[in-house]
Amino acid sequence: MTVTVIGIGLIGGSLALDLKAAGFAGSVIGVESNPAHAGDALRLGLVDEVCDFDKGIRNADLVIVSVPVDATADLLPRILDTIRHDAVVADVGSTKKAVCDAVRRHSKRGRFVATHPIAGTEHSGPGAALRGLFKNKLCLLCDPEQSDAEALERVRAMYEAVGMRCMTMDAADHDRHAAYVSHISHVTSFVLATTVLEMEKSASTIFDLAGSGFESTVRLAKSSPDMWTPIFLQNAAFVCEALDAYIRNITEFRNEIARGGRDELRSTMESANRIRRILAGMNSQNHTGEPDTIGKES
Ligand code: NAP
Repeated sequence: MTVTVIGIGLIGGSLALDLKAAGFAGSVIGVESNPAHAGDALRLGLVDEVCDFDKGIRNADLVIVSVPVDATADLLPRILDTIRHDAVVADVGSTKKAVCDAVRRHSKRGRFVATHPIAGTEHSGPGAALRGLFKNKLCLLCDPEQSDAEALERVRAMYEAVGMRCMTMDAADHDRHAAYVSHISHVTSFVLATTVLEMEKSASTIFDLAGSGFESTVRLAKSSPDMWTPIFLQNAAFVCEALDAYIRNITEFRNEIARGGRDELRSTMESANRIRRILAGMNSQNHTGEPDTIGKES
């Protein structure tokens, strides 16, 4: 099968690598507008060739769109216009409702499968691509009833080939869950890094005093603004809802400290400790492939 990847960065490049290694893709074509990144993708062996948009899409059995979510919504109608009638298109974007809305009435909507592989790092570009990034992770297939059954099966087979398990979910439900479990963590990390940089003007003090707790909490602040700005804007309603709840809790925590409320503080943190059990369950599910609770295993 010929797979064309539009946007050979972290996710597109990692998928390209694993699909070749698994034998799912006989050939991988990259579409990449930045010549330096196109050269890196070829040098690193992520793709077999790089070609222009129209040629890359016309020659594909499967097109993977792995660019920022605003560019995905812009490009999708043109991609569906251009694909062969039997080809399939899947996006990998971190928001789903706006992307699905962009092609809701397209005559070839059935050839599109909206997906979100839940795997990644804070790095970007072709140099960030990793083998095995998707192994034992979850992929969400959104609004599956809008896709042709055969298109959905081709995309499911692709994710299973790189070691993922798949679950179906409504696109709006996806965006609400993503706001709470992913997008708000990124906001928190960006804002924490901004606050510390504002208050601690000397980088050497941060470097000397920062422990592993600080480093792990601000890790996500290294993520690409090009990728995250459109995610926050496309999912603004749910992200703001999640932030309102977060701001209420952080204000309450601040007030407990200011009041010297030892018992309240202890009790708030004991409640927060329950996250340990949830994360332990999640990690064991990643290894066993047991069903998750936020969508429908399929
Ligand atoms: P990335 O490493 O920055 O790669 C993005 C790719 O998109 C690059 O090839 C870039 O080309 C291209 N691009 C950027 N702006 C574009 C535009 N306006 N038009 C066309 N192409 C454009 O990003 P990534 O982490 O792989 O993310 C790709 C997609 O995966 C996003 O939709 C993101 O929401 C989703 N996703 C990310 C993660 C994660 O953890 N990173 C996880 C799951 C899903 P240049 O070479 O020209 O910059």
